[in-house]
Amino acid sequence: MNGHFAVAIDGPSGAGKSTLARRAAKEFGFLYVDTGAIYRTVGLAAHRRGIDCHDETAVAAILPELAIRMAYNEAGEQCMFLNGEDVSKAIRAPEISICASDVSSLPAVRAFLLEMQRRTAREESVIMDGRDIGTVVLPDAELKIYLTASAEARA
Ligand code: C5P
Repeated sequence: MNGHFAVAIDGPSGAGKSTLARRAAKEFGFLYVDTGAIYRTVGLAAHRRGIDCHDETAVAAILPELAIRMAYNEAGEQCMFLNGEDVSKAIRAPEISICASDVSSLPAVRAFLLEMQRRTAREESVIMDGRDIGTVVLPDAELKIYLTASAEARA
């Protein structure tokens, strides 16, 4: 991949994907991409506009207006920007978790975010985790990990 290395991590929630991804990214100097944060940013934008997050036509209509950007601060944490505003904290609100989940089920949103995620992997060596990373976003990732854990460990 243009001299870059991509690692895709899939697996059930609570198995420790993001913990592993963050630590491995630090160790190898790769970029850890929290793809859930990107879906959260779309969910926030829809919520702020008072749009029904299940309404694909309405959500799709705002996508062209959204400039979504990722940046990394000195601590190496991923920050999300929506049309120039740092929304890293706002996207963690409980009501935005619900919107993020709703918009993430819309094919138009998944298609919109696909290229953004792939572009990041073309530009940097990345470790990404998320629902469809190994299958859809980075099917040719150099390393694919399916991480699972016992029910006790996940709990
Ligand atoms: O992981 P997080 O809770 O931040 O993800 C926000 C929402 O986006 C969740 O509902 C999750 O299922 C969804 N998501 C997704 N595909 C990804 C990453 C997250 O559908 N690659």
